[in-house]
Amino acid sequence: MSISSIRLYVPSPLSTGAEIALGEAQSHYLANVMRATAGEELRVFDGVSGEWRANVTKISKKAVLLTALTQTRPQAPEPDAWLCFALLKRAKTDMVVEKATELGVSVIQPIITARTNADHVNLDRLRAIAIEAAEQCERLAVPEIRPPLQLARLMADWPAERRLFIADERRTGSLLGNGAGQVALMTGPEGGFTETELEAIGRIPQVTRVSLGARILRAETAAIAGLALLLAAQP
Ligand code: SAH
Repeated sequence: MSISSIRLYVPSPLSTGAEIALGEAQSHYLANVMRATAGEELRVFDGVSGEWRANVTKISKKAVLLTALTQTRPQAPEPDAWLCFALLKRAKTDMVVEKATELGVSVIQPIITARTNADHVNLDRLRAIAIEAAEQCERLAVPEIRPPLQLARLMADWPAERRLFIADERRTGSLLGNGAGQVALMTGPEGGFTETELEAIGRIPQVTRVSLGARILRAETAAIAGLALLLAAQP
């Protein structure tokens, strides 16, 4: 990989001439792993000001300074889609966060359900995974990763204007289709949602129980495949 194909998510507000002091991890990556040199160009984005060309203006092993040059893409709207997934074991949660970012979600909300048998997350680690996926997939924003929430708590405050599609392997609903506007997909844990949970969620008017096809999918596959159905046709 050459320096010019690198894309980094940077927190600073970007504008022509803006100086960007990279943190230790990104500095290490550019200086020691990629062996970038002063003057080389790459691309940066900050989630609000679009994507920019930037060049390396100062480089040492632990601190790299970039300067933003010109905008390559303006900030553009992205789908307003949440993924609410029953928390999985670490490797599967990592995979869901990475793939959900690639597929374009705006918010990732882990949930704790009756049959969820994981309760710990390292939010910093998940945020780093989402940033890396956004950098590599030409996204202009990084999804927000929220701390895990009990299913009942999430549903108690469910936003009135957001449609929620709940993936139900009992296939009582219709096949999940494309969803524009404020939407969310919810998937259950390996053991599935309990009947009580499905009934409670189903009483909320914004909710539709949907199928992801005739096969029973593993929980991580359901989250990823469901998002593909929901988002593939969205700009
Ligand atoms: N009930 C099964 C499988 C649960 S699958 C069991 O006892 O093990 C885990 C989650 O994936 C489910 O809660 C559901 O949200 C989703 N899921 C899996 N296959 C699905 C399908 N064909 N349609 C809709 N949702 C599905």
